[in-house]
Amino acid sequence: MKQDVSSLAEVAPRERFSKICALTGAGISVAAGLGTFRGPDGRWTMTPEMERAMHVQLLPGNVDALWSVWGGMWDVAARSGPTPAHRALAAAGASVITQNVDGLHQAAGSVDVVEIHGSAGRARCLDDAFCGWTGSAEEAKRVDPPQCTQCTEPARPSVILFGEMLDPEALEQARRLASECDLFLAIGTSGRVAPASWLAPAAREAGALCVNVDLYPDGNADPAFHARVVGDAQDVLVEWAAS
Ligand SMILES: [Zn+2]
Repeated sequence: MKQDVSSLAEVAPRERFSKICALTGAGISVAAGLGTFRGPDGRWTMTPEMERAMHVQLLPGNVDALWSVWGGMWDVAARSGPTPAHRALAAAGASVITQNVDGLHQAAGSVDVVEIHGSAGRARCLDDAFCGWTGSAEEAKRVDPPQCTQCTEPARPSVILFGEMLDPEALEQARRLASECDLFLAIGTSGRVAPASWLAPAAREAGALCVNVDLYPDGNADPAFHARVVGDAQDVLVEWAAS
C-alpha cells in the first residue's frame, strides 16, 4: 500500500487504462445537494425516525415515509443535475457500480451503470408475489398516493430497504465489471460494507490497480487498495479527467 497521495493522475494516469470501473457512494453526490447518510450532518443522523422507517418489515405502513425520503431525494437530484465528478467519470468512459439511487451517473451520460441499491426514479408494486410490476416512479406518481399501473396496489420506490435482499442480477453484473477492469476506483464510499467490500478485492485479484478516493479517510488504509487519494472527489476526478 502506497502512502496517501493527493493526485489520482500521479498513481493512475488515465491514458494508461482502457477499462475503468468506478464504485461510487453518497460522497460523490454531496456537491449536488444530496447529503450523506452517516456522520454529523447525515440524513439518518438528523432524522433517526426516518432511518427506522426504511425497514422492509414496516411495509406497507411506511410507504409514505419512503416516498418522502426517496421521492424528495430524486427531485433534488433532478434539479441539481450531475456534479463535475459524475461528468468526469462519464467522459472517461468508466463503467459505474453505484450505491446511490439518485440517477446522476445516467444523467451525466454514463452508459454502463449498475445500481446495487436500486433507483429512486423507479417504482414497484407492493404485491411482489402476484403482480411484480416495476416502472418509472413518475408513472406511479400520476395518482396520489403512488399506485401500481398494472393492478391497484400501492407502489413503493424501487430502493433496497434495510433487511431486504440485493438484486442477485445487479450483484452479478457488479462482480463482472469489477473483475474485467484494469483500474478500479472507489469514490465517496468507505467500501467497507458488503457488497462494496468484496468488489475491490475481486478487482485486485483479477489484476486491476485499485485506488480509493476519500475526502475524510478514517484510520488505516484498506489493504484491498494499492493507493489512497485524499481529497474531494470533485477536484480529484476533474483534474484526473483533464490530465
Ligand atoms: Zn401491481
